[in-house]
Amino acid sequence: MQFEIATATRIIFGAGKLSEVGSLAKKFGQHALVVTGSDVRRAQRLTTLLQDRGVSTVTFSVSGEPEIDDVERGIARAKLEKCEFVIGFGGGSALDTGKAIAAMLANEGSLMDYLEVIGGGKALSKPSLPFIAIPTTAGTGSEVTRNAVLASPEHRAKVSLRSVLMLPRTALVDPQLAWDLPPIITASSGLDALTQVIEPYVCTKANPITDAICVDGMRRVTRSLRVAYKNGRAASAREDMAVASLFGGLALANAGLGAVHGFAGPIGGMFAAPHGAVCAALLPHVIDANLRALRQRSTANDALRRYDEVARALTGVANAGADEGLEWVRKLVADLRIPPLGSYGSAYSYPRVNHRSEESPADLLPAASVNNSAAEKFLAMNFDRLFPNPENTHRPATNFSARRWTPSASPSSQAMRWSLTNTQWRTASISRSHYKPFARISQRVFKNL
Ligand SMILES: [Zn+2]
Repeated sequence: MQFEIATATRIIFGAGKLSEVGSLAKKFGQHALVVTGSDVRRAQRLTTLLQDRGVSTVTFSVSGEPEIDDVERGIARAKLEKCEFVIGFGGGSALDTGKAIAAMLANEGSLMDYLEVIGGGKALSKPSLPFIAIPTTAGTGSEVTRNAVLASPEHRAKVSLRSVLMLPRTALVDPQLAWDLPPIITASSGLDALTQVIEPYVCTKANPITDAICVDGMRRVTRSLRVAYKNGRAASAREDMAVASLFGGLALANAGLGAVHGFAGPIGGMFAAPHGAVCAALLPHVIDANLRALRQRSTANDALRRYDEVARALTGVANAGADEGLEWVRKLVADLRIPPLGSYGSAYSYPRVNHRSEESPADLLPAASVNNSAAEKFLAMNFDRLFPNPENTHRPATNFSARRWTPSASPSSQAMRWSLTNTQWRTASISRSHYKPFARISQRVFKNL
């Protein structure tokens, strides 16, 4: 067994802990860039607490999930204002934006030089400027992850800036900050948290530390997501969800994820839906496809046993089997009434896409109806985007060429091999028949728009 764990330098957890932010921040300098979500007023208490301790602030807000341009504007602003460190305060979007800005303030060159898949994939060489991550939702676990997910409207995809050097200096998790979240956000972010404690547990890079925190995280989601959804001020439920989100971030940063997050990149680039809603739309189908593929290979393997363990943690039934876990997830998604992806409309990126381009998937969007062949086409077009990195999950392919980026009707066997390895579909011989589970997932997601 071999594993390595890396996380934020310091994790501070507890209801009311935001009050300590002034003394924590002072160590990093006297002038901070504070990155917030669209409602800047929510950060008012934070900026007051900082000012009380002699830390002045410049506020930079992002609305919706961050695009590459947002980060570039943030970098320019921080440079102009000579900020010494960065604080991210908000959901995953604000935290990822802050994390990417802090990284680029310390490294030479442009953001595109370092982005995986669509950019140069260069490795960051210097540690980020000090970054304090303060989540106000419970979902992404971004406070302890080493990547920032950014949307590229031009490429119609979400991709990561990723480096161990991006781990936040301080993760300040105060569950009270989520008390006033509306139920719809509690639900979608909660489904992201749930997905992020399931996928690292069933993935091929699981280790004893991530296993332990994933099982604990699943139990917390089980007992508390519905409670927090119904009563946002249920203190212990909010606390459980904040722990589950933190654990998901810790686990994914050190063990990786699975096909839900593989699909979430391109699908997230197609719909203006929050990441958690994309996870909710995919999770039951991906579990189903994984279980079928695993059973085709053998009914007694470690991965199936892990799905049994997931079912036991979720249902609380000591002898539950994998299928009961799947049913539990389906029911949770239905009970929380997470809107289907189609209800969010097309992604913001579409008006900015060159529709004359043959590869534009705009014609794949659900006009009147979406049929299976559209889903197949979507899948074929996006296969390399879904699984862009055949060599290593944590590092971009260094020679990712324009040719591989071009949508292709026949997915590369290399990409397929990588995705199979990383989603438990490992087999001795890999053929086009393995394409079917992916086709099935995308068909179902499209049918449920
Ligand atoms: Zn996620």
